[in-house]
Amino acid sequence: MQDNRLSDIHFAATTGYGYNDLGRDTLESIYAGVFNAEAALVRPQIISGTHAITVALSGNLRHGDELVSALGAPYDTLRGVIGIRETRGSLKEQGIIYKQVDLKNGAVDFEALAAAITEKTKIVTIQRSKGYEFRHSLRIEEVKEIIEFVKNIRRDIICFVDNCYCEFIDIKEPTDVGADICAGSLIKNLGGGLAPVGGYIVGKNEYIENAAARLTAPGLGKEVGPTLGILPHMIQGLFFAPTVSASAVKGAIFASALFEHFGYEVMPKPDERRADIVQAINMRSPDELICFCRGIQKGAPVDSFVAPEPWAMPGYDCPVIMAAGAFVQGASIELSADAPIRPPYTVFLQGGLTWQHAKAGIIIAVNEMVVKGYIDN
Ligand SMILES: *Cc1c(COP(=O)(O)O)cnc(C)c1O
Repeated sequence: MQDNRLSDIHFAATTGYGYNDLGRDTLESIYAGVFNAEAALVRPQIISGTHAITVALSGNLRHGDELVSALGAPYDTLRGVIGIRETRGSLKEQGIIYKQVDLKNGAVDFEALAAAITEKTKIVTIQRSKGYEFRHSLRIEEVKEIIEFVKNIRRDIICFVDNCYCEFIDIKEPTDVGADICAGSLIKNLGGGLAPVGGYIVGKNEYIENAAARLTAPGLGKEVGPTLGILPHMIQGLFFAPTVSASAVKGAIFASALFEHFGYEVMPKPDERRADIVQAINMRSPDELICFCRGIQKGAPVDSFVAPEPWAMPGYDCPVIMAAGAFVQGASIELSADAPIRPPYTVFLQGGLTWQHAKAGIIIAVNEMVVKGYIDN
């Protein structure tokens, strides 16, 4: 922020086309600095993490190009984006070929990855956080290893990293260890709980320009996009992001220790080094899972009086339950828990704007499970 001479003038709102939005350009320059990247696209017009990833991928892929996933099936909503699940307007529909290298014993299968890469491979995508899988999230040195492996096969393959939930959990970010593009959501770590909407894409200038041409229109790119008065929240949110993410991690460690104590299978374990803010806990039945999520909802500042129900959410192919009594709709940097209702009934807990709230919310959820007789006090 100091390097970019951030000042009062940058908090002003623009409307309409959003030409010459100094604050927006400054925020993007700050993001580029944080990520040690050439350029950034940070916009309220990016609706979510899925949207940011879609813009980054589709902006950089052309008909006939191959996209290779190095970590098995991607996050549920991205399956529709790619066309693994039939959808209108998917990458598959636009002639992009998709290949996926499944994990081997929970780790990257380097041999299969090498075999999957051909002369048509344009992007290798690396998803760090576990999504709705019971697997380890990728630490920064593991990201580095995959990127080096891919670049050794061919230097011009674009290494894309889905960085959702991992920002500021390590000193380094994927762009520090060779990633060409990386993307995520502002209602997760980087918005610090203050950004009311948004997504970011950072990386090499050429790839960011390609993404911008897709987000707005070819020929317009980064030049347009009004910020409508929310820049102060986006900028101050970034200022809070490291502390808020640290609170969320502390809550995750607390939940991990508590549920391990009660005999549940947890990932990661309480003393493990973490790559993201997500805590996975295997519940023993759908009823226990729903009870836990309702408990988290009960401990929320907003909508504490409602009981979440599993529901057919857009982009997911089985019913999903989401507890999120959040100030920003669906913000999972706020204490939240979600799960697809399918075996092994893993619940994914994350967030906590303050450590104190994370702790209180988790205790309230555990108490619900004690009352229902799932946990023996
Ligand atoms: C949250 C998340 C996304 C994007 O989800 P949105 O709800 O669209 O923001 C993508 N990948 C991973 C691994 C995620 O955790």
